[in-house]
Amino acid sequence: MCKNTKMEQTLWVAHTLFDQGMVTGCTGNISFKQEDKIYISKSGSCFGNLTNEDFAILDIHGEILEGKPSKEYPLHLYLYRLNECNQAVLHTHSFYSTLLTCQARQKEELFKDLLITTPYLSIKTKNHIGWVPYFAPGSQELFESFMTQMNEKTNLYLMERHGLIVSGSSVMNVFDLISEMETSAHLHYCLNQ
Ligand SMILES: [Zn+2]
Repeated sequence: MCKNTKMEQTLWVAHTLFDQGMVTGCTGNISFKQEDKIYISKSGSCFGNLTNEDFAILDIHGEILEGKPSKEYPLHLYLYRLNECNQAVLHTHSFYSTLLTCQARQKEELFKDLLITTPYLSIKTKNHIGWVPYFAPGSQELFESFMTQMNEKTNLYLMERHGLIVSGSSVMNVFDLISEMETSAHLHYCLNQ
């Protein structure tokens, strides 16, 4: 397989996130768009040993063409439909970012703090961080709530008591954004001890 294919890059990102401890167990899901199809990690797959056999295929209308996608696939689908520039989507329960999402009551202050901790998160998100109130993972309520929260200016959403989801122009772009968020969340945690 050519090293520069979207699949190859996606596998590298999944393995790297797992090795770095940013994704644990069989949590997290990753997808990319190729031509008019969406390739998304299958339900129950593990980032640590993800292979090209572990992807389900959907069309842009949400019809499942092959395999059983992650139950959170509608979140990915909505982001692709929202903006054609979105070519990859990544969802994780990374520790420090998730820790922040358990502090919903102070979220306005939290966002302000996060965006001034270092300049990089602010630069990469253009100061737009979305917030998705808690609903059970994989539930219709979560999908409907996400639809009302998402907007074209925002590529990063914190999901209350759950994790985060990011979209971007490439799989390397979403890897970079999620890594920046996790670093900022970690710094924020350490600064507030
Ligand atoms: Zn999740």
